[in-house]
This record gives sequence, C-alpha cells and structure tokens, in this order.
Amino acid sequence: MDIGFIGLGRMGFHMARRLIEAQHRLIVFDTSNEAIQRLVALGATAASSPKDVADRVETVMASLPSLQASLEVATGADGVIEGKRVKRFVDLSTVGSQMAVRIHDALGERNIVQLDSPVSGGVAGAEKGTLAVMVSGPQADYETVKPALAVLGKLFFIAEKPGAAQTMKLANNFLSATAMVATSEAVVMGVKAGLDPAGMIDVINAGSGMNTASRDKFPRSVLPRSFDFGFATALMVKDVRLCLDEMKSLGLSMEVAEAVGRLWETVIRDEGADSDFTAAIKPIEKAAGVVVGGKGGGQK
Ligand code: NAD
Repeated sequence: MDIGFIGLGRMGFHMARRLIEAQHRLIVFDTSNEAIQRLVALGATAASSPKDVADRVETVMASLPSLQASLEVATGADGVIEGKRVKRFVDLSTVGSQMAVRIHDALGERNIVQLDSPVSGGVAGAEKGTLAVMVSGPQADYETVKPALAVLGKLFFIAEKPGAAQTMKLANNFLSATAMVATSEAVVMGVKAGLDPAGMIDVINAGSGMNTASRDKFPRSVLPRSFDFGFATALMVKDVRLCLDEMKSLGLSMEVAEAVGRLWETVIRDEGADSDFTAAIKPIEKAAGVVVGGKGGGQK
C-alpha cells in the first residue's frame, strides 16, 4: 500500500526501511534532509512537509521525539490535518494518552482517524521487525493497516478508546525505566562490596532477578561502558514523566513510580538529555564512589 512516513530517526528509519522491503510505496518526510535522503536511497519518495505527505496518501505514519513534534506534525499549519488525501494518522510515537486524545479530537473534526500505535522493543526491535506494536482506535482502520503494521512486529489491539494504547505503553516503559535504575543500584551495591559486575549479571540472568536491563542493556552497553543502546535519556524521562502524569490524572499516587521519577530527573540533570539512557548508572556510581564494568571489571 501507499504509506506516508514522518520522523525517520533511530526508530523511524528502520520501520520505514522494513516497509519498503515489504514492497510498500513510501512517501517520507523529516526535518532533517539527511534522514530523508537515507530513505530515498532505498526507494522512498521525498515530500516537502507533513501536509505534502498527507496530500499524496491515505495512511500517514509518524515516529517523532516529542509531544510537541507529534502535535505540530498532525495538527500544525503545514500538518497532516491539511492534507487532501489522508484518511488516517498512525502515531507510532510515545505521547501519553492526553496528547493522543488531543490529536484524535483535532483530526476527528476533519474526519481523519487517529490510530494510536506506540511501540516497544528498542532500535534492535525496529531493525528486526520484532517490536511490540500496541494499537488503539477504530477497529476498521486497524484492519486496513494491519498488514503494514505486522511488518514492524507483533500487534496488540488494546481498545477502540483513544489513547488506550498510550496508557499500555507507559505502563511498559515505567517497568523498563525501573529495571534500568533498580539493576544499576543492585550492581553498584555488589561492586562496592567487592563483587565482579559481569559475574553478578550472569547470576541475575540465571536467577529470579533477570529483567530487560540485566538481560540486554548491561551486557551490551553498561559493562563495556559504551553507553550506546540507542534510546536517549530525554525520551526515557519523557516517558517516565508521562507515566507520572497519567497516574496523577487517575487520582493515583504511586510510591515506586515517584522514586523512579526522581532518579531519572537526576540522570537527565547530570548526564544530559542527549546521553544514552543506559548512562543512568553513572549518577548512582558517582554517589557510591565506584565504576562498574570497563576493562578492569568493577573498581572502587
Ligand atoms: P529520534 O530522535 O532518533 O528520531 C526522531 C526523528 O524525528 C528525527 O529524525 C528528527 O529529525 C525527526 N523530527 C523531529 N521533529 C520533527 C518534525 N516536526 N517533523 C518531522 N520530523 C521531525 O527518536 P527515536 O528514538 O526514533 O524515537 C521516536 C519515537 O519512538 C519517540 O516517541 C520514542 O519515545 C519512541 N520510541 C523510541 C524507542 C527507542 O529505543 N529509540 C523505543 C520505543 C519507542
């Protein structure tokens, strides 16, 4: 099918590439011309704005880094909302349920359907087509885009209610954010007491403490100290803040989430928005006076 794709970054590039490889015809746009040209080299057609994309296709997908970017791309002056052909906007970004509802309502006034479709599984999942793709919106439109979304990973239809898939995604990312900082605290404790961090990770992964940080992030990006997993701290903090907002809007106050939120605010303050989110261990190491991994393993 003809598909518009806006936002060709760490995730969007691979998702768009997989759609081209599955014989879909892609019209692409990004604010970075370099990002557009990478996809044009693979067979995509370049567009000049979100509106231009939406003038040419019925289905527009987006993978954008902030709530503001999704809002602007969907509903801005030169946005998808102004397109002549567009029938549905499939937002693969994480924006939280309130922003998803806001975009849904604005597009609805022009009879454009919003399919809220956040994804989980990281850059590696986008590359291999093994993402968890959570979808909420009208079932009929979901059926239309199902074959294309299936190229990206495993599909989960959450509900027709706008924003429901965002709530699901935030619950998932809260657990991912928690695993990262909790595993960092556990390993820093071990190293401070003289344990070998690589050995600790082996034990955890064979035991009941195993989680996505111990299984994937520590072996690949923390123990070698490459801090290059492919998810920016800014994006993780965005998701944690959105999750806390979601809990508050439901009248909930959750103790673990609030502690995790405070830790991530320290990470973005100390390591910067552009750091990789696996750098979350660094403030915890600094406070303990240890370094985990690297050439010498754990050092005091
Ligand atoms: P990214 O920053 O690598 O890519 C975003 C792309 O959007 C960039 O190419 C940027 O130039 C482009 N862009 C920004 N503003 C734009 C605009 N107004 N119009 C057009 N293009 C614009 O981000 P990413 O890591 O690919 O994440 C994208 C989304 O996917 C985020 O919502 C993130 O939370 C979510 N996500 C990321 C991961 C991950 O591991 N990176 C995993 C799951 C979900």
